[in-house]
Amino acid sequence: MDSLYSLTIHEAHRLLATRQVRSLELTKSVLARLARVEPKIHACVTITEELALRQAEEADRRIQAGDCQPLTGVPVLIKDNMCTQGVRTTCSSRMLDNFVPPYNATVVEMLNRLGAVMVGKTNMDEFAMGSSTENSAFFPTHNPWDLGYVPGGSSGGSAAAVAADEAFYALGSDTGGSIRQPAGFCSVVGLKPTYGRVSRYGLVAFASSLDQIGPLTKDVTDCALVMNSISGHDPRDSTSIREPVPDYTHALVSDLKGVRLGVPEEYFAPGMQEEVRGAIEAALAELRRMGATVERLSLPHTRYALAVYYIIAPSEASANLARYDGVKYGYSYRDAGTIWEATEKTRQFGFGPEVKRRIMLGTYALSAGYYDAYYLKAQKVRSLIRRDFDQALEHCDALVTPTSPTVPFKLGQRVDDPLQMYLSDVCTLSVNIAGIPAISIPAGFAGGLPIGMQLMGRPFSEETLLRIAFAYEQITDWHKRRPAL
Ligand code: GLN
Repeated sequence: MDSLYSLTIHEAHRLLATRQVRSLELTKSVLARLARVEPKIHACVTITEELALRQAEEADRRIQAGDCQPLTGVPVLIKDNMCTQGVRTTCSSRMLDNFVPPYNATVVEMLNRLGAVMVGKTNMDEFAMGSSTENSAFFPTHNPWDLGYVPGGSSGGSAAAVAADEAFYALGSDTGGSIRQPAGFCSVVGLKPTYGRVSRYGLVAFASSLDQIGPLTKDVTDCALVMNSISGHDPRDSTSIREPVPDYTHALVSDLKGVRLGVPEEYFAPGMQEEVRGAIEAALAELRRMGATVERLSLPHTRYALAVYYIIAPSEASANLARYDGVKYGYSYRDAGTIWEATEKTRQFGFGPEVKRRIMLGTYALSAGYYDAYYLKAQKVRSLIRRDFDQALEHCDALVTPTSPTVPFKLGQRVDDPLQMYLSDVCTLSVNIAGIPAISIPAGFAGGLPIGMQLMGRPFSEETLLRIAFAYEQITDWHKRRPAL
């Protein structure tokens, strides 16, 4: 079969487990696909062909010996902000252009232990700051549905790659929407887990109180399988939580009887694209037909979310990015007369414009005299935003919104207007502020470009989100469509 690359994880697993196909064949099929479509998509910063072939052979030996877990032998792509031992990890930044980590992120280690096959590392907005992958210091990634459009960001490489069948699944990270928004823009499934559900050890930090790693997959079943494999407490991440990890595949039942959905009016504000509103309303009608009840409600502090995010995220970023001084690792300016000049020039040449903008915003917000007015105030409003969700989710099992107010925009269209760019995450940011889980699933198209639907839930209610997403997927075929490449 030459189209093995187009299978889902669960389909590939069935073939592997019954010995109808070998991991080496799957991997070669994916590598050939990468070679064919990468020149159009540019989703990857690095392709690890040799490593992948070696891991595939190991996986085949393991399967021969009778040990075939759901991810064993299945090719994956990893966003380039997760440390991979011996494999360059750049965050799509000049600063880390030559950084080869001496250790693996916990999620990478977990996948390795299951016998996963890593085919490469995906492009992203520099240090995960952005919504279009145009802030990559290397090159922009193109949306597989229309190469003139952005794939979303910051995990745009991961989302575009999965949509283009360049891997069976990918890992992304989400600080304010970076898994869900690109998933929506590329018509794949993307889940941001509850804060603390997945270890952040080895994830290059952007905003530590908001960052979370999660899967981008071709369908909801695959999302559950990846969640089973990457969730859990990690002694190396003090913010990861000691909650038992359920078998997420048990949530995949196509029945919505008794499920109560809330629809927050603030997410359907004027300015959103009419086709997006129409697609979400149509999806709500389907969900109601399947037995769910739908209630319109309000999350009154939503209008502060963007402001709160753009105080908290840059503040934490400015602290996290202080470590790039040209001494410890990464890029280092060598022709300086003094240590100060070396640090200054390292940061001047190593960071791109968006990263510098965030560092300046954050340093200002945290500075003596302004801290109370900005950072402290933002933290207080953060509690109010969280409280809105707590109250709404007391009587609702999940909240339904669009993932983004518009379909993907054209490459270049928003790069010179940071505020417009920031606005593409209005629907996703508040989820990170509150620390709750949310999933984006394919929910339609407008003019050939994808529309995503977002489901948000209580802390540790990933199962509920997967159940609703799965039920919706059973009666639609948006997730089955693939871009013509
Ligand atoms: N687009 C948002 C930002 O630029 C969110 C990014 C993210 O989730 N990493 O900060």
